[in-house]
Amino acid sequence: MNRIKKNIKQYSKKLDQPTMMALDNTCIQYGNAYNYFTSRYSGINSSAITVSQTSTRKNCRDVLVKDKTFQKQMAKVPARFWKSALDDAGSTIRSMWSNLLNKARKKIAENENLNDDQRQYCFWCLSGQRQISPVLAYEEPELPKSLKKCEFDRHQLDNLLRRTIRKCKGAIPVNRRKRSFLIDAQQYSYRDTEEGTFIEISTMDFRKRISIPVKDKNHLKGSLRVVVDFDNSSVVINSLIMAKKKKRKPGRRKAIGLDKGMKKTVATSTGNVYGMDVNSFAKEKSDWEVERNANRNRQRSVWLKLLESGNDQLADIILANNIGDKHYTKQANRKLEPIKSNMNHALDEFFETENPREIIVEDLTWSKWDSGKSPGVNRRLSSWMKGYLDERLIYKAEQHNCKVTYVNPAYTSQLCPKCHHLGRRQGESFSCPNCGHQADADLNAAKNILDRKKDTEITIYIKAKDVKKIILRRIEEEQQKQDTSKKPKKAKKAKKKLRINN
Ligand SMILES: [Zn+2]
Repeated sequence: MNRIKKNIKQYSKKLDQPTMMALDNTCIQYGNAYNYFTSRYSGINSSAITVSQTSTRKNCRDVLVKDKTFQKQMAKVPARFWKSALDDAGSTIRSMWSNLLNKARKKIAENENLNDDQRQYCFWCLSGQRQISPVLAYEEPELPKSLKKCEFDRHQLDNLLRRTIRKCKGAIPVNRRKRSFLIDAQQYSYRDTEEGTFIEISTMDFRKRISIPVKDKNHLKGSLRVVVDFDNSSVVINSLIMAKKKKRKPGRRKAIGLDKGMKKTVATSTGNVYGMDVNSFAKEKSDWEVERNANRNRQRSVWLKLLESGNDQLADIILANNIGDKHYTKQANRKLEPIKSNMNHALDEFFETENPREIIVEDLTWSKWDSGKSPGVNRRLSSWMKGYLDERLIYKAEQHNCKVTYVNPAYTSQLCPKCHHLGRRQGESFSCPNCGHQADADLNAAKNILDRKKDTEITIYIKAKDVKKIILRRIEEEQQKQDTSKKPKKAKKAKKKLRINN
């Protein structure tokens, strides 16, 4: 089941020393428990933490409560806290696995030595932790029907998969000092007084709760993450509430192909465009960053000179106002806001207007995103925008009860949707040299993306190179059909002529 998460924040007032110390102690103990779980369960052969939070609890908790060494380790940690830390570690490990499998899929996609059957098997194994676990444990996975017909040497491929996973797996999540902890609904309560609203949080000190004054009157619900700001003696409380799914509109809902991009956020197979060109904002951010970095380097050398000459006071002022990272990040994030809001607005408009039952988008493994990007927008920013758009699209699709299907993106921007010949893309427009069809390039791509869904031959497992081969073969077959259907007619006419002459 997919649940949608939406973050709501609540800020505390300034906290006193004993409260900060209790929070600090809680962060340390919680961090120890969290680190214990990440190192115990993030190993390559550990399948205890799997796809969902509920299965994590079931798989681990029963084992842990009977484990003597674990009991000793957690003697000082209340059970509710280590259970929250386990959930926390579980979600870190699950996202680590999903990144790892993505990387491995890319490696397999690039592997020239695999044929289609072999690649299909590898992709299936890399589709989730449940599928890859038996391979890593040298066991036989239960294969789906579609793969049973394929021919491949499992033993050899399993070795390749294990090697690939090991190569892609980075270090175990680092044991950084924790500045936050999770609490569930039974570990806190709210209290309204004349002086304002307080949240009472249980800490590592059994039975004793601390009282934290908050700035608004909201009573948050469900699990909360308490983030401690040691610099400002305060906390920020994050609520992970589940956003409500939007009600379905009446009327028939369609499956719609989408082409995503920076110039048009989405172009649809129904012939509509949503969103404006965010390139200009991106360019502005890039330019600002370059200028700002140059300025920062200049300030840094001034700062060094001041330190050398013993002018500490002025050096501190420059450090705080001109070089400080906090200020820089804040400003940098502000520059991203117009891009974000434009994309969000475009997606909202799309879902409201089209009300799709299903959206068909390109599979991320083979990305062609860079092809249409404007000069002067740096790589990191471009890939950030792509990631942000994808994330928002999936989020909003879930909100609107809309299914997301991925297809192979190869040549979708170069294919003529009318005659299926390869055409040319020039800037914003597409033209077909075979049938003369002309259209907007992105709308054209969206149509091809929709068509790909029904294509049983060009699945997401086929490489771009092979997609081209298939397209060319189809064109050839089509021409042969035309030729053979013309020939007999000519022959008949010739025969008729002969008869008449005779
Ligand atoms: Zn054509």
